[in-house]
This record gives sequence, C-alpha cells and structure tokens, in this order.
Amino acid sequence: MVKICPKCRSPRIKYALWWTTAQIYECEDCGYRGSLIIEEEKT
Ligand SMILES: [Zn+2]
Repeated sequence: MVKICPKCRSPRIKYALWWTTAQIYECEDCGYRGSLIIEEEKT
C-alpha cells in the first residue's frame, strides 16, 4: 500500500507527529496537512 495525498494525489506524503495523540500527515508537494490520506495498492 502506498499513501497518497487526497488533495493532489502525490505519493510524497510524509508522516508528521505534532501531538502524541494526533497522527498528522504532510504532503511535500501541495502542503496539505491532515489525518486523512488515501491508501492505494502499489502498481
Ligand atoms: Zn498534496
């Protein structure tokens, strides 16, 4: 599975832990930040 950005569909998502209770992802391409990401099967 590969994580992709829900906004620009970039696979360049990195995991950013801001708080111990929050799982936040950050997109390196569009700057999207949030807990919602898309997981797709790698082709
Ligand atoms: Zn993005």
